[in-house]
Amino acid sequence: MDQSDQESETSPAWMAEDSKHAYFMQQALAMGEKALETNETPVGCVLVYNDEIVASGMNDTNRTMNGTRHAEFIAIAEMLQKYPKSALQSTDLYVTVEPCVMCASALKQYRIRSVYFGCPNDRFGGTGGVLTIHSDRSIDPPYPVYGGLYRKEAIMLLRRFYIQENEKAPNPRPKKNRDLNTKFDDEESAS
Ligand SMILES: [Zn+2]
Repeated sequence: MDQSDQESETSPAWMAEDSKHAYFMQQALAMGEKALETNETPVGCVLVYNDEIVASGMNDTNRTMNGTRHAEFIAIAEMLQKYPKSALQSTDLYVTVEPCVMCASALKQYRIRSVYFGCPNDRFGGTGGVLTIHSDRSIDPPYPVYGGLYRKEAIMLLRRFYIQENEKAPNPRPKKNRDLNTKFDDEESAS
């Protein structure tokens, strides 16, 4: 059997549905779902310390009219109410969308242990999507990033949000742009 074909179609073991990583990302997705219900860009996250969720966050920029209220910042603030800043060095972040440049930088300053994300952030990503702040060695130490865990679920949350937003717009775009796209590039190419 062709080894490379095999690898491209199966996910790494840490992504297995019964792994702890999958469980934590499911909780992050639940936060994203909650954001969607309140008309926020559906991004959710949890912080995991000693294998336990100690804080969670969802995007809150619309309600607060504050562009820095990203899920990551909210979760960090919650954790810092109960733990010293140093605890973040032993903490992992699970977030549905790759952290943006701002959050990637904050996570670095707090010395997050590692970051797991769902889908990449092609427009604002700070951990490989646009910039690679996580691996930059100039200021704070780098942190490892693992992407692709529940990627499709994270993308579907965003797609549902953009459709919902467009339907509320004064001049909605043509109907064909409002249908929920449930296809993914890799599936299209595989079929
Ligand atoms: Zn951010």
